[in-house]
Amino acid sequence: MEFQNNISLKNQNTFGIDVSCRLFCIIQSQQDISDLIHSDEFKNNKNLILGGGSNVLFTKDFDGLVIKNKIIGKEIISENKDLKTVKVGAGENWHNFVLWSIKNRLSGIENMALIPGNVGAAPMQNIGAYGSEVKNVIENVWAINIEDGKKLIFSNTDCNFQYRDSIFKNELKEKVIITHVSFNLSKTPNNNTTYGDVKEEIQNLGLEISTESICKAVINIRERKLPNPNEIGNSGSFFKNPIISTIQFKEIQKQFIEIVGYKNSETETKVAAGWLIDKCGWKGYRKGDAGVHKNQALVLVNYGNANGEEITSLAKEIQQSVKDKFGIEIHPEVNIIG
Ligand SMILES: Cc1cc2nc3c(=O)[nH]c(=O)nc-3n(C[C@H](O)[C@H](O)[C@H](O)COP(=O)(O)OP(=O)(O)OC[C@H]3O[C@@H](n4cnc5c(N)ncnc54)[C@H](O)[C@@H]3O)c2cc1C
Repeated sequence: MEFQNNISLKNQNTFGIDVSCRLFCIIQSQQDISDLIHSDEFKNNKNLILGGGSNVLFTKDFDGLVIKNKIIGKEIISENKDLKTVKVGAGENWHNFVLWSIKNRLSGIENMALIPGNVGAAPMQNIGAYGSEVKNVIENVWAINIEDGKKLIFSNTDCNFQYRDSIFKNELKEKVIITHVSFNLSKTPNNNTTYGDVKEEIQNLGLEISTESICKAVINIRERKLPNPNEIGNSGSFFKNPIISTIQFKEIQKQFIEIVGYKNSETETKVAAGWLIDKCGWKGYRKGDAGVHKNQALVLVNYGNANGEEITSLAKEIQQSVKDKFGIEIHPEVNIIG
């Protein structure tokens, strides 16, 4: 493992923000992590673990050490009549793992096809899409405590998974390096088509419902709906959908009958942040190279040379206008790195 100085991060974040870091290294094994945490470069600098860079927004050059996680490998560690448990290196590309699971006739993650990024970041915010969340299939998360180098294993319950949240984004933020994640994948198809568009897309494709067809449908829908970061910088949904009391939701609904919300619990409703932002008139807005996508109000974009400050200042204006119009606070899903 070697340390490099002054490395550009422009190609290491899907927002395409042109920043650099003072120090950069790649870890590929447990040994690399052990060498890393005993090094002066690590001990004397602030540091950031980076996967695919698809959920980070850099607001300035990173004055410290960026650690790129490239630990790879997939191993079936146990099996029973219903499930196979697969342990996957944190540096494996998420979508490639989804394709691998389908090829191996395993079900449970097909609805999350084409989510950018790496396996190691999946537990961070409990990734989810099209009616599935990764918490439903994670068995354990393997990590290393960066203070003392101790190996840690977190059970699914230990991870305290919530909507786009987990212990790794809170109490353990910047305290552990996730090295592996194990998943319980089903030998029989789950066939979760609860999310409307998926079933319709499968019908349009003239296919039967199966693990493969769900994956194909999700890929098609995502390619149509979401901007490709290779063409236009973005990090997917910039904000989380806010969860408010159903009483407040019903109050707002009196004035805005078409407001979009889903039952979250007996007393709470999850509101579509994209709808709120759109209703405030932001869809398609552009100031310099920072903007709001023309079809997806929830996606902030970098048209080329926007910097992180411009994107965050646009985000703050959006948050304020949603607060003023609806009395609802929306919060970033993206990790803002200052
Ligand atoms: C076009 C687009 C669509 C998207 N759609 C979705 C979606 O449908 N659903 C969804 O949930 N998300 C979505 N995202 C967000 C993103 O893809 C996920 O959050 C993904 O899991 C991020 O993975 P990454 O490897 O790129 O993480 P990074 O951006 O590299 O890192 C994210 C955070 O995790 C930390 N981290 C990363 N790896 C490790 C590790 N091994 N150990 C400790 N900390 C670590 C980083 O320090 C950072 O704080 C989308 C993003 C884009 C660009």
